[in-house]
Amino acid sequence: MATERTFSIIKPDATRRNLTGAITAKLEEAGLRVVASRRIQMTKEQAEGFYGVHKERPFFNDLVSFMISGPVVVQVLEGENAVARNREVMGATNPANAEPGTIRKEFAESIEANSVHGSDSLENAAIEIAFFFKPEEIVG
Ligand code: UDP
Repeated sequence: MATERTFSIIKPDATRRNLTGAITAKLEEAGLRVVASRRIQMTKEQAEGFYGVHKERPFFNDLVSFMISGPVVVQVLEGENAVARNREVMGATNPANAEPGTIRKEFAESIEANSVHGSDSLENAAIEIAFFFKPEEIVG
């Protein structure tokens, strides 16, 4: 198995409810190491750019508004099979469909306010990491 890096966001619904530590603990318990982390207020331009792949989807405008509604924590996670492992501990997009014990099952409020983002492929992970972090900001 390969050591990978993936990209995570703790979303505004979670920072608002002071869940940064609880969510990070879940990630660490899943075998992921936080090798970069920064709390930011995303700009509208950043959110639109980051979610550009979804711009034709009906939920795009609401998603951008939600993502700039409060601070987020952007993180780089490292570990064996980090992309898949993170997706597993996150749970399904809609918390109603998420497995027990997953972050979204335990913490998400709705399909939109679902507490975390995680890259869905190694290729996207590299793009998303580079969107927010310079190489020297990642300390493995
Ligand atoms: N989303 C939404 N409504 C939907 C589907 C998705 O508001 O019907 C939001 C939700 O916050 C989700 C994000 O858009 O996390 C990106 O959607 P994607 O399908 O990529 O899900 P993810 O990879 O985050 O599970």
